[in-house]
Amino acid sequence: MTGLNRRELLAATALMPLWRSALAIGSTATHYDVIVIGGGTAGIPCALFAAMGGARVLLVEKSPALGGTLFWSTGQIAGSGTVFQQRLGISDTPQAHFDDCMRINHGTADPALTRLTVDHAGETINWLADHGFEVMDGHPVTGIGHDHFTERRYQQGVKSGLSILDAFIPSLNAMIATGKITLLTGTAAANLIQHADGRVTGVTVAGPAGIEDISGGHVVIAAGGCAANARLFEELHGVPLYAKTAYPTSQGDGLLLGLSAGGTIVGGEKYACLPGLVPDAFRYPCQMFAYAPLNPAIRSPWEILVNARGERFVQEDHSSVHHIERGVYQQPAHRHWAIFDAAMLENSDPIIPKWDRERLAREHKTNAMFHSAMSIEALALTAGLNPAALQNTVDDYNRRLRSGETDTFGRRARPIPLSTPPYYSIAMQGWTLVSFAGLKVSAELQVMRDEGSVIPNLYAIGEVIGAGATSGAAYTNGMLVTPAITFGRLLGTRLANTPPRR
Ligand SMILES: Cc1cc2nc3c(=O)[nH]c(=O)nc-3n(C[C@H](O)[C@H](O)[C@H](O)COP(=O)(O)OP(=O)(O)OC[C@H]3O[C@@H](n4cnc5c(N)ncnc54)[C@H](O)[C@@H]3O)c2cc1C
Repeated sequence: MTGLNRRELLAATALMPLWRSALAIGSTATHYDVIVIGGGTAGIPCALFAAMGGARVLLVEKSPALGGTLFWSTGQIAGSGTVFQQRLGISDTPQAHFDDCMRINHGTADPALTRLTVDHAGETINWLADHGFEVMDGHPVTGIGHDHFTERRYQQGVKSGLSILDAFIPSLNAMIATGKITLLTGTAAANLIQHADGRVTGVTVAGPAGIEDISGGHVVIAAGGCAANARLFEELHGVPLYAKTAYPTSQGDGLLLGLSAGGTIVGGEKYACLPGLVPDAFRYPCQMFAYAPLNPAIRSPWEILVNARGERFVQEDHSSVHHIERGVYQQPAHRHWAIFDAAMLENSDPIIPKWDRERLAREHKTNAMFHSAMSIEALALTAGLNPAALQNTVDDYNRRLRSGETDTFGRRARPIPLSTPPYYSIAMQGWTLVSFAGLKVSAELQVMRDEGSVIPNLYAIGEVIGAGATSGAAYTNGMLVTPAITFGRLLGTRLANTPPRR
């Protein structure tokens, strides 16, 4: 044994170069009403609203800059009763929003957290609008890349996620200037300090100034998800992290902090994959080389989709992209191939947006994910698919189309048979940008133990509670950024007015 306790070990492994400073642990007498771990989508509004409510707040951010995933996120958010809806004369209700969310994710999201989101999402969006947030032309819309709502309540800022960050920063700076928020950047929360009775009473932080214990009345974990940490992601979801597309700080620190205090992780089984990522290579995690949305609402399909066995598995023009995503999810390693021919290439819009036919043809000559051949059998052999099965699949598709029979999967959009050589394939991978597993929280956003009790004074918001909580086993429009900001806002306001448990 090293003779170090768990807290000292955690701190030491988190920041080995600062080991000398660890000798100073426990020397500080600093106390804050609220400590927020993570200065991203959820953490910034939480710190801001707690400070505006009169609390003395510490905001701890591991990376040098505030913003987290807002730097990469499209930042699409949804809410009813917004000024943007009013501009277009749209009347809408939280109940209609709730019903749409639960329809899209087939009731797999947490109803209480969904309700909390939709009941307050409009206020969130109106607050952003009051602080300079402006939406893209024509927004709000019913949907973009995921299954659509029945009403226009979905919007994207003109600068994507950065429009949201821009709305926060002046107010945050004002609170920092008045001393109501103390901001520590480049500083990681390495440990939660807990009383013997289970109450969380502070945080051990590790940063340029060394390692320090800081006491806090309430501690909020807002450190993001784990979809940039391949090992942790696989452990929590039972599925490899197929592609690395999450913001790099999404390492799962908050999940481990919550676990260390007695919290429990739920929702890994809700993992849902998106279709159409063309990987740089079949390795885990791969990098995204290109992306074909495979969403009939964006582009009606000409090609067929097959699995590694060379068999079709889904109605490619199904009106629900979630249905297509579930189809991909059920295939080995979530791999799928788009198969098409020269006539389809010539006559359809490119399957990869913004690529022209010349680009597609060029990739087919040089890229290992793109294949072409003069026969279906030869195509299957070069692409690594089952040749006899692929031939049968194409024959069945063509025969039914030519004879006017119903398609095997009920597909309606069948512009032309797949019969003009050369034939083409593009290999694709199911993938995700977010982690579905997260800390179990109550409807008051308190971190919960496995048996259902709450850990006093400890809260979690944002992706650390898992995409499964608010988006369910699906990609429900805006149901990550919207709850992240909304829960941050609501929790910050509440904690400013709630004494911690002593
Ligand atoms: C490309 C992309 C597009 C997306 N588009 C959408 C969309 O349009 N709509 C939608 O709803 N969702 C979208 N999402 C998901 C959504 O953006 C995220 O789920 C959400 O932004 C996460 O917010 P967060 O506050 O939990 O995490 P973040 O915004 O990532 O913030 C977490 C912060 O915690 C910090 N941190 C981590 N560990 C520590 C530690 N130990 N100590 C201190 N700080 C720490 C990180 O550095 C980071 O700044 C998208 C995601 C991606 C990657």
